[in-house]
Amino acid sequence: MSDDQADREPASQPASPFGGLKIDFGATSANGNGSVPAPDASTGSLNPFGGPIAIIGTGAAGAAEPLKVGGDGRGPAQRHRTESKVLIVGSGPAGLTAAIYAARANLEPIVIAGSTPGGQLMLTSEVENYPGFPEGIDGPELMRRFREQAERFGTQLVDVDIERVDFSSRPFRIWARGTEYRGQSVIIATGASAIWLDIESEQRLRGRGVSACATCDGFFFKDREIAVVGGGDSAMEESIYLTKFARKVHLLHRRDDFRASKIMIDRALEHPKIEVHTNTEVDEVLGKSKVEGLRLRDTRTGETSELPMEGLFIAIGHKPNTDVFRDWLEVDQKGYLAVHDHTRSRIDGVFIAGDVHDHRYRQAVTAAGDGCMAAIDAERWLEAEGITEAATATAW
Ligand code: NAP
Repeated sequence: MSDDQADREPASQPASPFGGLKIDFGATSANGNGSVPAPDASTGSLNPFGGPIAIIGTGAAGAAEPLKVGGDGRGPAQRHRTESKVLIVGSGPAGLTAAIYAARANLEPIVIAGSTPGGQLMLTSEVENYPGFPEGIDGPELMRRFREQAERFGTQLVDVDIERVDFSSRPFRIWARGTEYRGQSVIIATGASAIWLDIESEQRLRGRGVSACATCDGFFFKDREIAVVGGGDSAMEESIYLTKFARKVHLLHRRDDFRASKIMIDRALEHPKIEVHTNTEVDEVLGKSKVEGLRLRDTRTGETSELPMEGLFIAIGHKPNTDVFRDWLEVDQKGYLAVHDHTRSRIDGVFIAGDVHDHRYRQAVTAAGDGCMAAIDAERWLEAEGITEAATATAW
């Protein structure tokens, strides 16, 4: 992101990546039934300074309208399928690339996209390293395009979270919001979620000034003084992005050596609105109903100090979303799914793609490549099993 972009007015309030999502700041109900919405489970995203935000629109998180089931542009009226040759779980770059490939191979995939579809790029301001976009592209816009491309070839997307799976026999079964989906094969591309500091005050004030999503919530911090925790690329990127809105950004890192890439460190360190605090960790987030300050601890001396603050963004990494699969599939020491022979799991017909197994590269482009590989492997496996005909060689 360039400085002139950073100084720009926040015209880019996070728009709905999937069309028609509106944020109503004055709302008392997000769902039309009078109840107050909980902060987004994965990001804590909620108006930190006032009433709750009503999210009105399509099948994205908090949707008030019926689920949008995709297809080739025929839209919501199309029949909602629950059986497919390929069920894909997850809708980040891996899941949607798998969907594009599977759909073009006439496998009519169903993507169970999650209640906050789009994966981690939905939390990214600007992607400068995805090939094909020399000027960079907003993460949510990139994911909107992935989704549109998957739908164009007949993918059905359902924006719900899965609750349970049964991989004991074929067709494999997956339950999501009370519906049973059946697939002759499954591609797991559930990615990874933000890690939190896990202190009581942080949890209590999530959505009340504490967030893990600068793209979602940066807009609410116009002219305010805020902090970002972390020393990796995410922390650098979020700090720089938040300077678009905030009066000042404090970057808090527990060591004095950063994990981030040099170019990102330089951009953050040189930014006039960013003040870096090394050897600093958050001891407590201060404030009863909203963030009012931070108690910080010097990691070398143990001394504590207090700093007035109006917002706190956590950018300390991610954990793989594997809980629902743990009874069925192997995980490694860090909890990531184990793959064998490129994209295979230990269960024949269940394939794995993207950040849910990859903690080495963790890039959108590598996840997308993985999704492509998983779809090709699934298609070849279906063919070998006699479930599909060998007719798709040209579809790739
Ligand atoms: P990361 O590289 O794992 O960095 C996490 C940071 O958070 C580390 O500095 C770590 O401190 C700190 N941390 C972890 N737990 C903490 C805790 N409990 N309290 C305080 N600090 C804590 O994660 P990331 O920054 O999210 O990046 C993940 C991957 O995505 C990386 O490969 C990165 O390059 C990539 N990425 C790329 C871009 C880009 O190119 N635009 C943007 C974002 C991410 P220590 O250093 O002390 O362990």
